[in-house]
Amino acid sequence: MNRRIAGKLVIATHNPGKLAEMRELLAPYGVEAISAGELGLSEPEETGDDFRANARIKATSAAQSAKLPAFADDSGLVIDALDGAPGIHSARWAGETKDFSAAMARIERLLQERGATSAEKRKAHFVSALCVAWPDGHLEEVEGRVDGTLVWPPRGAAGFGYDPAFLPDGHTRTFGEMTGIEKHGLPPRGLGLSHRARAFVKLAEIALDRR
Ligand code: IMP
Repeated sequence: MNRRIAGKLVIATHNPGKLAEMRELLAPYGVEAISAGELGLSEPEETGDDFRANARIKATSAAQSAKLPAFADDSGLVIDALDGAPGIHSARWAGETKDFSAAMARIERLLQERGATSAEKRKAHFVSALCVAWPDGHLEEVEGRVDGTLVWPPRGAAGFGYDPAFLPDGHTRTFGEMTGIEKHGLPPRGLGLSHRARAFVKLAEIALDRR
């Protein structure tokens, strides 16, 4: 049986870009979102082999420490021509200084080396695995994905991470050129555009009550 999310929810992320998006996504549901940073929770090591396993590690660790339900996302960019890289290592490719311009330039170098110059050879997708964990061990898990193409040079200064290099299928602007509302593409305007919004729509169906 699915369990509903109500009251206080810890957002188990130390990534300010993700935290802002998660707060936006949760706003219509009357959930009181508290960040892991505010609670001084430490970041567990992401030792899982896939997005789902890492989301579960982060949510479970925060739920145990805070004794409250906790919500985590593990996400990343999966590039076909690079055999799925950077994938679960997407954050790591930006290094300690979180330099995503350098990470996007590294990707471009690798794509050029592999002759990936046409749009067709530059296909990529973002994945978001969401997990809500309760202190008693109950879990709710969903996954979302958005397909697109990598552009060079990157375009736009909105969003975070690899947003300026990612052109979602069916659109003419990159995520870096979209407002948060457009990037999420949520109801009533859309059915979810970004990977995180698509996963979130699924989570809302099974575990959230609109105010
Ligand atoms: P993690 O889930 O904390 O391991 O980090 C995922 C990484 O994937 C982020 O640091 C970003 O680099 C990238 N990423 C995930 N979602 C997005 C997105 O919506 N836009 C741009 N980059 C993203």
